Order: sequence, then C-alpha cells, then structure tokens
Amino acid sequence: MKQSLMFIPTLRDIPAGAEIASHKILLKGGYIKQHAAGVYTYLPLAYKVIKKVETIIREELDAIGCSELLMSALQSKDLWTESGRWDAYGKELMRLKDRHDREFCLGPTHEEVITSVVRDSVNSHKKLPLALYQIQSKFRDEFRPRFGLMRGREFIMKDLYTFSTTKEDLDEWYNKVRQAYINIFTRMGLQFRIVNASSGQIGGKSSEEFMALCEIGEDTIIYSDSSDFASNTELCDLEEGAPSPDGIGTIKHAKGIELGHIFKLGTKYSEPMNLMFIDVDNKKKPVIMGCYGIGVSRVLMAVLEQCNTDLKVLWPESIAPFKIHVIPMDKQGTEGYNKAMELHDHLQSKGYEVLIDDRNESAGVKFNDADLVGAKYRVVVGRKIKEGIVELRNMATNETLELPYEEVLNYNF
Ligand code: ATP
Ligand code: MG
Repeated sequence: MKQSLMFIPTLRDIPAGAEIASHKILLKGGYIKQHAAGVYTYLPLAYKVIKKVETIIREELDAIGCSELLMSALQSKDLWTESGRWDAYGKELMRLKDRHDREFCLGPTHEEVITSVVRDSVNSHKKLPLALYQIQSKFRDEFRPRFGLMRGREFIMKDLYTFSTTKEDLDEWYNKVRQAYINIFTRMGLQFRIVNASSGQIGGKSSEEFMALCEIGEDTIIYSDSSDFASNTELCDLEEGAPSPDGIGTIKHAKGIELGHIFKLGTKYSEPMNLMFIDVDNKKKPVIMGCYGIGVSRVLMAVLEQCNTDLKVLWPESIAPFKIHVIPMDKQGTEGYNKAMELHDHLQSKGYEVLIDDRNESAGVKFNDADLVGAKYRVVVGRKIKEGIVELRNMATNETLELPYEEVLNYNF
C-alpha cells in the first residue's frame, strides 16, 4: 500500500485537549478525526485495526456457536416502554422524533430489540438455546465524553445476547463466553484482569468486567498479586498489602479500563417483554438471558496505552495495520526509490501487509510518521542500496540488520 494513497493525515502538533498517550497518538498519527464532542471518523489506519479487532472477536464467538446479525440502530420508544427503560435510562439516551412525531432513540444497547426479535420466532424449548451478536455503532449522550474513543457518544460495540431454558444452560454460556473473551483479549496482546462486578448475593458470579491495566484507567481495581482474585473498589475495598480474601497472596491496587462486561440477566427483559417458551413439561416459562459487551473502539485505546513508549507505537502483530513499513530515503524516480517499490510489490504479493512511504518527504518526517504507524518491521532503503544493501529493523527487539536486497526479498517476516 502506498502511503500517499492511504490518507493518513498526520498532525505536526498534538491538539490541545488530548491528555492521554493513546488519544495523542490517534490524533497526531492520522487515525481518527473528531467532528463533535465524542463523535469521530475512523480514518483508514484506525479502521484497519478495528477490522482486525472485529475479526478476532468474530472468530472466537463463532467458534463457540454464536451467530452474527445486525439490528437497527434506530429503536422505537414502544419497545423501551415495554422494558420500562424509556424513562429509567435517563439523559444518556439519544432521543429523537420522526416527521410524524413518533419517538425513537439511537440504540445505546440492544436488549429491547433483540428480545422482540427473538420472542416473535422462539416459543418452544426446541428452538433454544441461542446466542446472537452484532458489531455496531452505539449512541450514548455521555455527560463527559473524553479521552477520544475511550468515552465517545458514538462508539463501536460488540453486543452478544444468549437465550437459555435453564439457569444451568445460562451458566454454561456465561463460562464459554468468558473463556472466549479471555482468548480475544489475549490474542490482542492486552494485559487485563477479570473483575467481579456483581454483589455476589445471588451466589456465584453473575457479572464480571474485563479490565485492561492502565495508569489512565477510570476505574480502580484491587487484585491479588498471586491469584486470579480481582474486584472493583465499589464492591470490596481492601487496603494495598492486605491479605487477599481467597487466602492467596496480598492485595494490590491498579487503574483499569473497562474493555468488556459479561452479565447474567436472567429474566430481567424476558418477563416484562413477554419472551416466553413452552418447556418440556408443557409449562410456559420466561427465557433466561445473558448479555455480553465489548467496547471495540475503546479496545483500540487500551491497546495503544499498553503498546506505546513516549508516543512511539509498536502494535501487537495480531491487530497491527501493517507488518512491514518500507521507507525509501531517495525521492521518487531515483534508483533507490524504484528498488524500494519493487521490494514493496514483491513482499505484498507474498501476502505480507506492507506500507511504503512513497512521499517526497524528509527522512525525519518519514521516521516520525513511521513511529506512529507502529509496524513491527522497518525496511530502510538508503544510500547503501548502491551496494545492494538495505537496512532491516525489528522494532520489537530493536535489532538492526544490514542485509543484501535479495535476502530481504526472501526474508521470513
Ligand atoms: P462505563 O462504565 O465505562 O460507562 P458501561 O458499564 O456503561 O461502561 P456497558 O454498557 O457494559 O458499559 O457497555 C459494554 C462495553 O462498551 C463497555 O465494557 C465498554 O468497553 C464499552 N463502552 C461503554 N460506554 C462507552 C463509551 N461511551 N465509549 C466507548 N466505549 C464504551
Ligand atoms: Mg456507561
């Protein structure tokens, strides 16, 4: 891919208002463009990453038997009145009226819609269980949109809903999704903790949050330094250094970014919205539901927070926009430039994702921009190309090799 065609509108200066590293990188690096508070366009570089994040999510959810659909973002007030949330949701709900004065909202979440979709076609235990998800833009009129994609008013979410006939089946889905989330965030190279978010009164775990460990996180989590125990401070307020309640290790505090949330809903929506099924015993019962979200656009920021050093980016390979960045030092039309382009074409034809900086910019500009693109490998085609030598930098190990051009053509990246 030619950098000149990619549309990466980098900025010379970091815009005022960007306080955290990930936000600075996204704006300076030409990943996103804001046009209202908490409302962004994902430019090609960011969208490439988002699509990879979505692919990982789809692979892991499809593997456990979930099906993808796409619901409408526009939702009628009637549905929200049925669940009782039209009034309860408050000011975060983006409300609007059509030309006939009928009221709608832009979906902040989709329990109402999915419940109505399923209730019209599922009436027997024979048609259950089901696990349906979508990846879609959500709308929430957040009181304080901030930190770029971290707390947007329009943001991308993956939301999954499960429908079961028994509590045991819900538990089974919950555990499968929990494991899928572990796989998803691990594959994205994130450091995270699973935090108990339920009061625990119902017995067992009924709600957990996946938290990326980050200094700029809005939540404080407490965790054991030697076991899986973790909780948010609202539920359990233990001092740092105290013994962990599970008897293993001592308590530490950390800041976290909520990446995802898994939740046993039970019959919270199926009862008021009349999602019923006829069970094996011929009795009519409410369907038992679970809901599971991932903040897809927020994930981008969490990863960036963890994978930058002084605003220099090194994306985890699984979601990097490019694997190889070819940087010719010479201007277009020169021998060096042509050799670099040949190298790019060849590596791309081998299936690698390659970006070539074909712009007539100074070396300084090119390297600064490359630090924001964050590819693992950088191939610099400079003066030594006259002797058939190029420079290969592994940005993960900081190793720089001077290699014959032919060797790089056949290099196993
Ligand atoms: P928060 O406590 O951060 O407001 P929430 O509890 O409202 O999150 P959920 O309703 O569980 O979030 O939504 C599922 C996921 O969507 C969250 O785990 C988070 O990753 C993401 N998310 C929620 N609100 C936003 C937002 N305003 N901007 C970007 N991502 C969001
Ligand atoms: Mg919220």
